[in-house]
Amino acid sequence: MSSIAVTRKAFTVRDIEVEGTLSGVIEAEIEALSYIHVSMGRERLERLIDIKTAASLLNTVEEALIKGDIKALQRVSSYVALDYIDNVVYGDSVCIPGSTIKGLLRARLELCHAKDGSAISCMRSDVKPITSPPPPGAHGWRHARIWKAVSENRGPYCNPIETQDYTICVVCDIFGAPGVVGRVMPSNFCCGLEAYEKRDLPYGEKVYAIKPGTRLKGSIMFSALKLEEIGALLISMGIAKGSSIGIPVLIGKHKYAYPDMGKARFMVAVLRAPLRFAETLAKWGLNCSAEHIEIVCREKELQKLIDMAIDAALTRYPQLSQLHGFSEADVRDKVVAK
Ligand SMILES: [Zn+2]
Repeated sequence: MSSIAVTRKAFTVRDIEVEGTLSGVIEAEIEALSYIHVSMGRERLERLIDIKTAASLLNTVEEALIKGDIKALQRVSSYVALDYIDNVVYGDSVCIPGSTIKGLLRARLELCHAKDGSAISCMRSDVKPITSPPPPGAHGWRHARIWKAVSENRGPYCNPIETQDYTICVVCDIFGAPGVVGRVMPSNFCCGLEAYEKRDLPYGEKVYAIKPGTRLKGSIMFSALKLEEIGALLISMGIAKGSSIGIPVLIGKHKYAYPDMGKARFMVAVLRAPLRFAETLAKWGLNCSAEHIEIVCREKELQKLIDMAIDAALTRYPQLSQLHGFSEADVRDKVVAK
């Protein structure tokens, strides 16, 4: 296993605004390019019955349990069948939770390989380093192939609470570590219930999934990010220079196993920041418009900001050149097709 040095620095102060950093919101959409399923971890009931019937069934179940009447229990079980595993739903919205999105963004950066013996992440949220690629069919083999996840000994994770050492890696500094709050907070990305469809997967698995073509709206809040950190965030979203529409990334369950599951892309709409950041944006050579109490960067100025931020990230963290424009979804399609 090759030994890798993790780039670490003193963590960025969060509670005061550091000059030259930006806080704001990236308004974005996630477009489903295939079915997406983010599991609620529970199944729906196939056959819904009225309350009266349900009440009498409960009585029957109670009696049957007391009497040990197996046949009666079997009769009752025929009324209800566990069915399709639900996607995450909040009220009238089908959602990809912000925590799932944060995990996706973080993982993409963590899986970025070291360059010249140095890595930008301690890989704290990933599984243990793989010592040898698993053979096809073994657990995690597609993940290993897609990300070329080979042994990189990055040493101990950043853990300031335990070590009292607040010198942390680039990714922990952006996304958080024990005792250090993250500076990137994605919201839930949601759409209406009409985007929802039942899907029968191989091996008898049934899920509710978000249909291809659906657009889910959400935002990514960020605080005190340097220009290069905004660039790293954009690269983690699959945004590449020259476009506000990202390359396909993988999201949700079954993303590695099935070519018609898990493919999506981010589309950045606008970047908003409080008015007090006007000077910072002007220093970066941007002419975003002041609207009420905000500065809003859209269209040309947004693209300029995206390109500048990504350039800054690639200069500061050359490792990111491997991730910039890398679509694990496109690689997945080739790997799964084999
Ligand atoms: Zn770390």
